[in-house]
Amino acid sequence: MTSIRTRFAPSPTGYMHVGGVRTALFAWLLARQSPDGKFILRLEDTDQKREVAGSAEHLIESLHALGIVYDEGPDIGGPYAPYKQSERLDSYRKWAQKLIDAGRAYADPYTAEQIEAFRNQSRDEKRAFLYRDHRPTNPPVWDGKMPLRFKSDPKSYSWHDEVMGDLHSGPEVIDDIIIIKSDGYPTYNFAHIIDDAEMNISHIIRGQEFLSSQPNYMNLYEALNIKAPLFATVPHILGESGNKKLGKRDGAKDVLDYFKDGYLQEAMINFIASMGWNDGSEQEIFSSAELIEKFSLARIQHSGARFDEKRLLWLNGQWIRKLSLDDLYNRCAEFWPESANQVGDDVKKQVLALVQDRLKTLADLPLLTSYFFAEPTPDWTMTTNNNQLSKLSTDEIVTLLNHAKEALSNSNYDADSLQQTLNSLLETTGQKPGILFTLIRIAVSWAPFSPALNETLSTIGRDKVQSRLQNAIQAAESASK
Ligand code: GLU
Repeated sequence: MTSIRTRFAPSPTGYMHVGGVRTALFAWLLARQSPDGKFILRLEDTDQKREVAGSAEHLIESLHALGIVYDEGPDIGGPYAPYKQSERLDSYRKWAQKLIDAGRAYADPYTAEQIEAFRNQSRDEKRAFLYRDHRPTNPPVWDGKMPLRFKSDPKSYSWHDEVMGDLHSGPEVIDDIIIIKSDGYPTYNFAHIIDDAEMNISHIIRGQEFLSSQPNYMNLYEALNIKAPLFATVPHILGESGNKKLGKRDGAKDVLDYFKDGYLQEAMINFIASMGWNDGSEQEIFSSAELIEKFSLARIQHSGARFDEKRLLWLNGQWIRKLSLDDLYNRCAEFWPESANQVGDDVKKQVLALVQDRLKTLADLPLLTSYFFAEPTPDWTMTTNNNQLSKLSTDEIVTLLNHAKEALSNSNYDADSLQQTLNSLLETTGQKPGILFTLIRIAVSWAPFSPALNETLSTIGRDKVQSRLQNAIQAAESASK
């Protein structure tokens, strides 16, 4: 069997979105499944007009951030360097010349206006427009300034796609495509065929948008006498509604932005792999190692995969819980509220341990932890808007807060003792936890959620708990004035 060599071949025309990541990920997983498999990064930078400065670096940074490590690529070289199409022009010329010599490519002499006239004519005659219907009888010698067109050989094809199964096409879809443009650069249609052949690529894994051109590629493979690699066409990613291709507006954002928003690499990989692929079981959480073990092209679905950002959020929460405290702590550096700067690692770790189960993204840290580091500002509406607490009068609330303050001033401050203190407070006040504990929780944190009350109190510490309860009493009194 030949070795598995897959490639990710992005054009540096912008940022990397989840669709691109998924193609790269599937190609990487396939290569990693075989002991001598190789995954290659190739930059397809032949469309000068669409190129965006910095985009190549950005793509590389994104792959690094995702842990999708390539074995050969523009910045690391490899046996088939260069891995950037703009540096391989000689190669495309050489192959184009072979086609010219074999009478299978010709210079396209037409102006844009002439082509427009051909198109209009086909439309008036209700025929499909095909370049091959307008081959010049005496084409000029190609001077490198005119487009060079492939002289196709229209025929039917049947082929196997590793994802889509057995596919067929008729001769009507075969046409004379441009192989070298008037600016001297090859088209994607031509360049990728040459590169995949020269780089010994075993599988082409790419998006559905290329499927309609596949018959033309087959025609080119034949004319060039190149053995085609295996094809695996991955379906579109659809927006949340599930009926439209994912666009910028519905979440096709830059993958690096997800990291800035506090998503973990593991969750991103898990999420993206499961868009259009599953292993046939109910399992939802997959590490990269498990994906490498279980992934197969045959289990990629044929129809579009829905992009479900809520699922990503859920997966992220799951992955945050799975990390060890130290590992999670190391990834949080950028996300702490500023007020946390004044405390040491130990305190921050203690706080992190309390909220680990509640974090959905690392960016939730400030909301969930600020009150451990800085004095929260009482917001009395949090009590009046609370279903349970709104049943009490301000006087009742103040009385409860005074009881709590008293009991907590005498308690030991380890979590167990505090739990006992809180339990006896329930008895002495005759309140339900839903009221008493909620009130104390709000009064010491003024945050929408907090971890177990005894642990929260223990971490905040006696002095601060006392002063915050006193502030809450004052807030209640000024609210009632
Ligand atoms: N340069 C193409 C793109 O960015 C790559 C398609 C392929 O993988 O062959 O869409």
